Amino acid sequence: AGPLDKEQMQGLRGIREFLKVRTSYDVLPLSFRLVVLDNDLLIKKSLNILIQNAGIVSAPLWDSHNSTFAGLLTSTDYINVIQYYCQFPDQLNQVDQFRLCNLRDIEKAIGVVPLETVSVHPMRPLYEACRRMLKTRARRIPLVDTDDETGRQTVVSVITQYRILKFIAVNNEQHTMLLKKPVGELGLGTYTNMATATMSSSVLDVIHLMVKHNISAVPIINKDYKLLNVFEAVDVIPCIRGGAYDELSATVGDALSNRAEDFAGIYTCGEDDRLDSIFDTIRKSRVHRLIVVDDDSRLKGIISLSDILKYVLLYGEEDDNIRS
Ligand code: ADP
Repeated sequence: AGPLDKEQMQGLRGIREFLKVRTSYDVLPLSFRLVVLDNDLLIKKSLNILIQNAGIVSAPLWDSHNSTFAGLLTSTDYINVIQYYCQFPDQLNQVDQFRLCNLRDIEKAIGVVPLETVSVHPMRPLYEACRRMLKTRARRIPLVDTDDETGRQTVVSVITQYRILKFIAVNNEQHTMLLKKPVGELGLGTYTNMATATMSSSVLDVIHLMVKHNISAVPIINKDYKLLNVFEAVDVIPCIRGGAYDELSATVGDALSNRAEDFAGIYTCGEDDRLDSIFDTIRKSRVHRLIVVDDDSRLKGIISLSDILKYVLLYGEEDDNIRS
């Protein structure tokens, strides 16, 4: 191993130590907004609430009959409803009446294995939240506290992969700056069997691709493989606004032209870029993934936040399950 490898490993170890001495609570900003939805709410109405609260794409669910936390609503749930509608197209009336508490029934009906709803206590080490996220493939994890006296649960907040990586970028620059190996050399991300679509693909086709590959974004390319845009799982939400499940035959081009003005943008990098500069980007901007392109902006691969988190936490560890 050369000096670069040694430095890289030193950086990774430093970040892991840092994650062990900080808690999930430390990641939370001083003030934040948390939208919690009642489990009895109509799914159709939940869509409007997310659309009205720009920037919020997931929400903890609250079972007010039992005063308990009832899981996390994410764009995957809406994709499940769409799949249900595709499998039972004559049930649109019923779909219209579905409530958030029916989401588990929808999963059963379409035969998807539900994501295990994990939560962590806010005062546990951040490292634990990260490991749990990687293990369950969850992209966000609710922080749930229990009142000692009443035994009641409170949802304190939800932390995402982005929040954690940003927390590292902002507070641990002394270690992220040591990560100087090119991402191509590290094999960070996915470079083969890419799921892609074009501007004229239908939204429904792209949704089916995301389900089939279990991914949260599909690069949109032209015939020369040049990157034009990215369709993300969260882009599905405005497409079915008001319960318009029958409008998913619209093209990706049309759907993306309606994107909200505060859209965070698309981030690209090259295979020669290094993690230190990716952490710089994460520090400054709301990055959800990086699309790897060549000098002619042709698509080469994709680096998801889970790829980065996995590498940072697990690379070179004894139980190296980086590829699992
Ligand atoms: P995240 O968990 O951060 O939301 P994804 O679910 O999109 O990320 O990615 C899961 C895995 O699939 C990652 O290893 C990523 O590199 C890979 N991946 C993501 N998008 C695509 C795509 N369009 N085609 C092929 N692989 C992808």
